[in-house]
Amino acid sequence: MALADYKRDMEGCSRCSSCKWVPFNQIKSWRFAKNCPSICRYNFHAYSGSGRMIIANSILEGRSELNEAVAEIVYRCQLCGACDTACKVYRDDIDLTEVLLELRAFCVESGELLVEHMAVIDALKREDNVLGEPKERRGEWAAGLPLKDINRETCEVFFHAGCRYSYDPDLRDTLRGAVSLLLDAGVEVGIAGAEESCCGGRAYELGYRGEAANYADDLLSRVKASGARTLVTACADGYAHLRYLYPRMGKELPCEVLHITQYLDRLLAGGRLRLRNSLPTLFTYHDPCHLGRMGEPFLSDWKGDKLERPMSLKRAGRKGVYEEPRRLLRALPGAGLAEMERIREYAWCCGAGGGVLEAFPDFALWTAAERLEEALASGAEALATACPWCVRAFRDTASQAGIDLPVYDLIDLAVTAAGISVPAPA
Ligand code: SF4
Ligand code: SF4
Repeated sequence: MALADYKRDMEGCSRCSSCKWVPFNQIKSWRFAKNCPSICRYNFHAYSGSGRMIIANSILEGRSELNEAVAEIVYRCQLCGACDTACKVYRDDIDLTEVLLELRAFCVESGELLVEHMAVIDALKREDNVLGEPKERRGEWAAGLPLKDINRETCEVFFHAGCRYSYDPDLRDTLRGAVSLLLDAGVEVGIAGAEESCCGGRAYELGYRGEAANYADDLLSRVKASGARTLVTACADGYAHLRYLYPRMGKELPCEVLHITQYLDRLLAGGRLRLRNSLPTLFTYHDPCHLGRMGEPFLSDWKGDKLERPMSLKRAGRKGVYEEPRRLLRALPGAGLAEMERIREYAWCCGAGGGVLEAFPDFALWTAAERLEEALASGAEALATACPWCVRAFRDTASQAGIDLPVYDLIDLAVTAAGISVPAPA
């Protein structure tokens, strides 16, 4: 597909501005009624989902030119998908996220690139990860753990660590905790170690389709060779890319793809994960965009008039991973759950996605601070989430903005409650 293939979606926009709001029947208060960080921050229609579709259509029709200023508007957006979900409540025929993705690919094809994103892609090409860390150090997080080498052995679960977890020194113990929970339940886990590469999802989101396809091919061939029937990742971004983007690129993995919260939920239900230790805390849960509305695949592409498309073939955000993380939280002995106002498919973004963290860090920080305000308003004592990018964004923002709210990865809470020992790196 190309941008021009979505002309009908762009022309169909009625400019009702519903894409800027949580659907009206879901609004709990005026303070947290809006859903789009971009329009909230910049307060001009061009910075909304609708505005970007109007920009795209205008460029295609030769009424506007794509220049540096326009590209900056295009990229001041987290690709969080909230506009698409809100629009779908009212409209059957607009796939807004697809237009936003195609517009970015169009920017790259046209040479309108952001230098910060070029740096990410350069790092990716050099070291196979979006953080630019040395490739040969990618597997160091797993030192001393009894894991299989997926490059040479078969195993039950193919574990994809992802870029952020593999290299972020604050999050490596979380990742070690994730595989330790699986090992403790008797699951055979394999990793690619230093040979693991980025899933390619961030490159796709930035508009670099060729790089994204190469990384998808790399992972696809590894999964095929491993013979694994289940791939588990703890990264919400990675989950969305493997579940949603890969099939869009014609590179569907030949195995079940699960987020760690889904796998742990199964272990819990089967009695193989026992949470015994008390965590007497009132938590609120942040739905990562990529685990929720952005993790929902289209069941198939629709070729005809979208107004006639069956409801079941729309990607409306409702089939994201919402229940499993909440079941895990509720299963923590002594823990309570206080929900925020915007949850599930209507959740507010953490601010880090879509290349915003790299190119517009002040906007990322503002977006995360908004969410932390909402978390505090819930009355919770701590925030839990299930994505390394969200954890990083919230911890950094809380410390920079002086917001007193502890931020936890659900994995760490499960490790503590299970009382398992996670060996220190050898
Ligand atoms: S994108 Fe959808 S919700 Fe937004 S203005 Fe257009 S029709 Fe309305
Ligand atoms: S994807 Fe998110 S940030 Fe971008 S326009 Fe839509 S709601 Fe706004």
